[in-house]
Amino acid sequence: MQTQNKKIQDILNYYREISYLQKINSVLDYDLNVSMPSKGSESRASHAAYIEELIVSKWKNPNFREMIQDAQTLELNEFEKAIVRNIERQGKMYWRVPEQILINLKKETSIAFVKWSEAKSKSDFSIFVDSLEKIINLVIEMADHIGYTSNRYDALLDQYEPGLNFEMFNDIAKKLRTFLSDFVAKIVNSKNYTDINSGFDTEVYYDIQDQKKLSEFIAYKLGYDYEAGRLDVSAHPFTSNLHRTDVRITTRYDLRDFRESLTSTIHEVGHALYEQGINPEFDDTPLEGGVSLGIHESQSRFYENQVGRSKYFIEYIREFLGLLFPSVRKINNEQLYRFFNQVKPSFIRTEADEVTYNLHIILRFEIEELLINKKIKVKDLPEIWNDKMQELLGIRPQNDKEGVLQDVHWSYGYIGYFPTYSLGNLYSAQIAHKMKEELDIEYLISRGEFIEILNWLRKNIHIHGSLYYPNELINRVTSEDLNPDYFIKYIREKYTEIYHL
Ligand code: MG
Repeated sequence: MQTQNKKIQDILNYYREISYLQKINSVLDYDLNVSMPSKGSESRASHAAYIEELIVSKWKNPNFREMIQDAQTLELNEFEKAIVRNIERQGKMYWRVPEQILINLKKETSIAFVKWSEAKSKSDFSIFVDSLEKIINLVIEMADHIGYTSNRYDALLDQYEPGLNFEMFNDIAKKLRTFLSDFVAKIVNSKNYTDINSGFDTEVYYDIQDQKKLSEFIAYKLGYDYEAGRLDVSAHPFTSNLHRTDVRITTRYDLRDFRESLTSTIHEVGHALYEQGINPEFDDTPLEGGVSLGIHESQSRFYENQVGRSKYFIEYIREFLGLLFPSVRKINNEQLYRFFNQVKPSFIRTEADEVTYNLHIILRFEIEELLINKKIKVKDLPEIWNDKMQELLGIRPQNDKEGVLQDVHWSYGYIGYFPTYSLGNLYSAQIAHKMKEELDIEYLISRGEFIEILNWLRKNIHIHGSLYYPNELINRVTSEDLNPDYFIKYIREKYTEIYHL
């Protein structure tokens, strides 16, 4: 990046080494998830841990911290300020939290992951309870060192979404909670409601090669650059940003249901397009990469839901689906559209539809805030979880596996992460609303002309990388703060029509 400032130039030179090491670790991680033989996992863990150690020592170098403190007293331009701001925020973890806490957390989380896996497979929370308790205590200590003004949970939320705090998300959650619980009840009690895949043949096998062709074709049509990425298979689909010029995605195939691979691919393509579209001048600097998990998820959700689950997209892909899977020809457009937009209260977050999804997040958000402020005990979690599920979605898990044990996040020590999933949904609706004022996106989608849509996102969001914090970015794009009303309006209109409410 061009900067006349010698001190900023020094910071960028130093930071580049951190960025390289992170990318090397990402390659190791990608390989681990996609193609590594199982016997290699132990040695791979040592290699990754060694690189991680190098990264930590680079961050903890007192000279680096001094360079940043020094830079804060300088007269800086917009880009230089953002560089210093981003390093300062990332550095909090290394500079404020005593090393012993981070070491303990690392140790406990690797034990916890194993405990969690066992507990989940046996559906027995008692196997995980001690590990989780230790992790929560360490995360509390960490939050106290990072610092906050009003709520300890703020310190954690900000780690995943710069600028987010408890009060902000709580206001959003309250609004969503009221609307969504009522609306879900209205849908499932409506006379047209059915939770069966209406008219869809689930007895047929959908050839994996054909599903793969479909995924590859749609990714290409949406604008994914295969010369700067590739599509592979993994147990849980993800996007790996190895560099702007190497953004890889994965999907998974279900022989009985082609929706899984298609929607997962579209979701990951949304993440990947963001990374592939960032200003090349930001490469290997603190301005590279998407700005936050919430904005990142807004891009994946935009493509997955606003595009991929729209009536217009279903209209567009119907022909291709029919060519690959003859059984699809037997059902009409409306049935196919419904098939992609089935609303059904269910226990598992990752299988939730657009309408119920945020209720799963609100449940976790409320529990995390109570845990982190020591208002509830870890051992009581299964009961608390089930009560909240009953309250929010009207269903009660029968065991821990479909309740409190379903997500891996807490075993990693990720507390404060879940709300970013909801933010993604909310941002995507607000962004889509704005885009529709400037582009006839329904027409473009139904014709399979996705490039104008991508160019709009490129110009307004992608290009900026991590230059603007989420709140500033959403204001630049839509001229207002994050506003959940756009999401509420989108859900209300779409599903009122689908279920003839
Ligand atoms: Mg995602």
